[in-house]
Amino acid sequence: MNEMPNCIGCGAQIQTEHPGELGYAPASSLEKEEIICQRCFRLKNYNELQPVSLTDDDFLRILNGLGERKGLIVKIVDIFDFNGSWLPGLHRFVGNNDILLIANKADLLPKSVKEQKLLQWMKREANKLGLKPVDILTVSAQKGKGVVEAMEAIDHYRKGEDVFVVGSTNVGKSTFINRIIKQATGQDNIITTSHFPGTTLDMIEIPLDDEKSMYDTPGIINHHQLAHYLHTSDLKMIMPKKEIKPRVFQLNPEQTLFIGGLARFDFIKGDRSSFTFHIANELPLHRTKLENADELYNQHFGGMLAPPSEEYKEDYPELVRHEFRIKEAKTDIVFSGLGWVTVQHPDVIVAAHAPKGVEVMLRPSLI
Ligand code: GDP
Repeated sequence: MNEMPNCIGCGAQIQTEHPGELGYAPASSLEKEEIICQRCFRLKNYNELQPVSLTDDDFLRILNGLGERKGLIVKIVDIFDFNGSWLPGLHRFVGNNDILLIANKADLLPKSVKEQKLLQWMKREANKLGLKPVDILTVSAQKGKGVVEAMEAIDHYRKGEDVFVVGSTNVGKSTFINRIIKQATGQDNIITTSHFPGTTLDMIEIPLDDEKSMYDTPGIINHHQLAHYLHTSDLKMIMPKKEIKPRVFQLNPEQTLFIGGLARFDFIKGDRSSFTFHIANELPLHRTKLENADELYNQHFGGMLAPPSEEYKEDYPELVRHEFRIKEAKTDIVFSGLGWVTVQHPDVIVAAHAPKGVEVMLRPSLI
């Protein structure tokens, strides 16, 4: 078999089998002399960035490559899935380069959340995870909020060097970069996509106004994210589309709440207390007695307890129980990718049931 050619835009090896993955081009394009992958094609012709996904080895190669280059690393996380969208160990790969941390989807948090408190919280959590960013910002790429400030910060911290934008899949990296491109080309043509010479790092290069460039790296897959276990139609239900309305429940011990059929929260021991659910507004919650919970799940999973819908329930991993003794008031129990439950009072024992492979963790309350 002939070796496949490389994309003239990003340098990735062309493949025709897997749309959505790096280097994809329709088979018909192989007849052309100069072959461009679908992602570069869309960027070039529509100024639109298409997310692609890669294998773990590809990521390691790309991340390792960043350490050898000089520039500002812009790390984008999803504020709604802060830990799930974190790229663990990034600081080990990037050498001496500064990292600017940008949390996207700020529009999803309740309006009552104070920006300063949020930034402090993010700083603490980032430090705990081993990252000392030069600065932290929040944006809503979708609504355009904070994007101009983010562009200014990027320009300030890059100190005349290149910029590398990294993030796991689904954090809104493409939406963010598309925003920047739009914002910039609408103004003084600071960034143009008129040319993007091949790079060996499989990155999209967006020239900046001073010989330097902003590079978009492909989205990195975090395997423990819930999103990877759901079909697209069910996924739509778990991803909040607008500001989350916290749902508060006063629970007695030995009560259970099902989050659709996706996850389950048991209040096991402690005084009657309140628990605040921060999950997509559309997701139904069902309260029941702890002693009835197993049976209810067995009988109604995929029906009353959905998503996942009846059609896809067979593909959903079994739930695994994680028990926690909570000592501090205002602790979040995070179901990676789904949302979190804030335990308002101290000294309770609870259990979180999440699909096998999906991380459940505790953190000081975000809100
Ligand atoms: P990528 O995989 O990181 O490139 O992410 P995309 O740009 O494709 O966005 C992933 C999903 O998040 C899409 O459904 C977007 O509509 C959504 N999204 C992106 N930015 C925002 C935002 O600022 N707020 C909200 N609520 N959703 C966003």
